[in-house]
Amino acid sequence: MKLLRSNIFWIVVFVIVVVLCVFLIFFGKNSDGETVSIYVEGELFKEIPLSDDGEYAVSTSYGENIVEIKDKKVRVKYADCKNQICVETGWISGEGLPIICSPHKLTVEINGKSENDLDI
Ligand SMILES: [Zn+2]
Repeated sequence: MKLLRSNIFWIVVFVIVVVLCVFLIFFGKNSDGETVSIYVEGELFKEIPLSDDGEYAVSTSYGENIVEIKDKKVRVKYADCKNQICVETGWISGEGLPIICSPHKLTVEINGKSENDLDI
């Protein structure tokens, strides 16, 4: 009887651990650890927490883009590029398609929790 109870205890612990792991894998990316990553020519230019509302200027030799973060969404508010595709893309939220400004070689995307958080 005692042995059986101990087995049930470990089965319950095992199930809880598995459920927690599954939960973290599927929902962990949507946690508060999300960041907005801005790349220029494929190099990380700036990384901003998705919870930091504000406007961030990205000035490079190609031109200027103003990236706006608001309500856990991000967009390119202004750009002096010639095709304005990045501005027309509008708001993005969550992981998915990035905003790309090809004339400025700029990419804006939302990522899960960053490994570099400790360096900031
Ligand atoms: Zn653009």
